Amino acid sequence: MISSPTEQCDAKIVAMAETVCCKSICLRVIDFSETSQIVTLLTARHGVVGLIAKGIRRIPKKSSAPLMAPLDVLSAGQVVYIPARQDGQLATLTAWDVTDHRPHLRRHYKKIITAQLLAQVTIATGASDDVAEEMLRQLERTLSDVAAADSLRPVVAYLKYAASLSGYAPDLMRCAGCKELLGPHASIQRHSVGLFCDLCCRSDTVTRVDRRILTALNRLSPPCDLPDPLHQAPADPVALYHAAQLLLFHLRAVLDDRLRLIESFQSMYMPPSVYPIAATVIC
Ligand SMILES: [Zn+2]
Repeated sequence: MISSPTEQCDAKIVAMAETVCCKSICLRVIDFSETSQIVTLLTARHGVVGLIAKGIRRIPKKSSAPLMAPLDVLSAGQVVYIPARQDGQLATLTAWDVTDHRPHLRRHYKKIITAQLLAQVTIATGASDDVAEEMLRQLERTLSDVAAADSLRPVVAYLKYAASLSGYAPDLMRCAGCKELLGPHASIQRHSVGLFCDLCCRSDTVTRVDRRILTALNRLSPPCDLPDPLHQAPADPVALYHAAQLLLFHLRAVLDDRLRLIESFQSMYMPPSVYPIAATVIC
């Protein structure tokens, strides 16, 4: 049964050397039995961690006590858990203390789907211990910015950061086929990794983008280095959409994960097909 509040973290660490207490963001929740759930958290200590939360479904959904709040996807909180003894096993959740349930995000269907897609990307990236704290910081800022503004800029910045963290940052300057500098356009192809020039493109192109988008994407900072969303320069939503799509297709290929919310993302943000790229920059 999940019951212990954050105040007990220090005492628990002393009493149980293997118990970990740290900041986290909930990325996925799966009902496991009538009383338990399997949850995936991005933790500041161990990166992406799968945990069994025994008895958590007994907690009343309408409980007003913040320390007793259920685990919901995208919530931030202090977690206490016992790490798995072996690879492939689940850690055991012993306490969960919500610090931000993200009410501003949950009021908008579009934003919640976008944020859940970022959670899927984070799981697929599988952050390791050494980058865990930084990834948590970047995702926290991204979710905060998505909640605060309608721009896709923080989403694109996080996708670029996640691709870099996975060790598969796309080369935005050179063709993955002939290694020459990319021309006015570059394409992502099905079953291939990287960007291709028009000469190297085959018929199974998934998306084709303007080089100006790649140039701007190359300059785009990680989410935490962006100005406050309310003080950012206006960006071209069409260019941002194409940049996001390019990075999502790239991540899907290199991470070998379906990222099933890509289709929902496309249907929500896709601009009219004849819509020109008006602005010269996206960042
Ligand atoms: Zn080429």
